[in-house]
Amino acid sequence: MIYKRSSALFTEAEQVIPGGVNSPVRAFKGVGGTPIFVKEAKGAYLYDEDGNKLIDYINSWGPMILGHAYQPVVDAVVKKAQKGTSFGMPTEIETKIAELAVSMVPNIDKIRFVNSGTEACMSAVRLARGYTGRDKIIKFAGCYHGHSDSFLIQAGSGASTFGTPNSPGVTQGTAKDTLLAQYNNIDNVKELLEANKNEIACIIIEPVAGNMGCVPPQNDFLQKLRNLCDTHNVLLIFDEVMTGFRLARGGAQELFNIKADIVCFGKVIGGGLPVGAFAARNEIMNHLAPLGPVYQAGTLSGNPLAMAAGLAILTALNESQEIFNRLAEKTEYLHKGIAKVLSDNKITHTINRVGSMISVHFDEAEVVDFNTAAKGNNDTFKSFFHGLLNEGVYIAPSAFETWFITDALSYEDLDFTINAVNKVAKSL
Ligand code: PMP
Repeated sequence: MIYKRSSALFTEAEQVIPGGVNSPVRAFKGVGGTPIFVKEAKGAYLYDEDGNKLIDYINSWGPMILGHAYQPVVDAVVKKAQKGTSFGMPTEIETKIAELAVSMVPNIDKIRFVNSGTEACMSAVRLARGYTGRDKIIKFAGCYHGHSDSFLIQAGSGASTFGTPNSPGVTQGTAKDTLLAQYNNIDNVKELLEANKNEIACIIIEPVAGNMGCVPPQNDFLQKLRNLCDTHNVLLIFDEVMTGFRLARGGAQELFNIKADIVCFGKVIGGGLPVGAFAARNEIMNHLAPLGPVYQAGTLSGNPLAMAAGLAILTALNESQEIFNRLAEKTEYLHKGIAKVLSDNKITHTINRVGSMISVHFDEAEVVDFNTAAKGNNDTFKSFFHGLLNEGVYIAPSAFETWFITDALSYEDLDFTINAVNKVAKSL
C-alpha cells in the first residue's frame, strides 16, 4: 500500500505537534513506520488520505462498537449542533442519558459525566479518598487508568509500549501513595492490605484488562478482590472505560456478577465524542460537590453534543441483548480462524478473548499479567502488524493493546482478516 500523503502530513504535523500526534500510541513508535492519516470512516472501514481502505480493529480504541458514522449518532449530533454547542448550564438530555445509564448498569444510583476516561478514573479515586479519609490506592501492573499522575506507576498501554510505565513529572509524594500489585495475584493484594492496614482507600482495576493486550481475570480473582475489600473496608473501583457497555449492557459487573463500589466509564458511553463518567451508590456519590465536600467540575462536562451521541449509542445498545451475543460470536469466529492459521503455519502464539475484546500474543505461555504479556516476541508482532496493514487490516500498533470488535464487521470482513493473517503468517 502507498502512504505518500500520510507520510507528508505526518512530517508537517511533527513541526507543530510533539511527535506529530495528540496521543502517543498513534505514533507507530512501537512498530516503526509512519502513522496513517484518516480521511473518513464508515461502518467497519477506515479510508485514509492516500485512498486506502482498511478494516478497522481499533475503532477509536473502543468507542465505535456499532461502527463508524453510525447513523443515529450522526443524526443526533447534527440535530443538537444546530441548537447551540455548549451552555455550561443544565440541559434535559443530561438527565435522560443519566437515567438510561443508571437503568443499564447494576449497583449504581447516580452518575457524573466528565470529558474523558482519565478524568473519570482520577475523579473516582478522589471520591474514594474523600469518602474513606484514606490516601493510598492499589493498582495493578499493566493496567492503564488514564494519564493522571497517580496512575502512571507501571501503567499499561502507550506507557508500556514506549518503556516509560513510570513517567517523569510524577512526584515521589504522589507515587508513594500508589501501591502496585500483579494482576490475577490475590496473595499479592492480601499482603499489601495487611501491610497497610486502614490506609488504603481503594483498589482500582480493569475488570478485564485491555491495556497489556486483553487479559481476563482468572480463578474468581474479582470475587476474591471483592471479599478482601469488604474485609478491609476498602472501596473497589472497576475501571470500565473499555468494558462498560461493551461486555454486556451492565459491563463487567453484569458479566461476572460482581459488585463494584465505584464504576468508571469512557469510550462507548460517548458514542465517539469526548465523554467519561463515574458512578456509584447514593451513599458514595452524595459526597461529591455540590452535595458534599469532594470537589469535581468541568466547563464542558455534560456537553449537549456529547450527551446526544452518548444517548443515541446507549439507546441502541439497550434495545437488545442480541448485539452483545453477536459481538461475542464474531469475536469467537475471529479467534478460532486466527488460531487455526497461526497453528497451521507453526507460529507460536496465545490468543486471549472476552466478549468483543481479543488480543494475539506471540508467546506460548498463558498471558495472565503484565510480566507474561511482556514476554511476547515484539519483532514477530511488528512484522504481524505491518503485514496485516499491507493487506488492508488495521490492528493497534502495539502488542500492549486489545483489538475492539465492532458489530459493523461482516463475516466476509472476518474471513478477509483470517485470510490476511494466513498470508502474513507465511512470512513471520
Ligand atoms: N481507563 C482505561 C481502562 C482505558 O483503556 C483508558 C484509555 N484507553 C483510560 C482509562 C483513559 O481514557 P481516556 O484516554 O479517555 O482519558
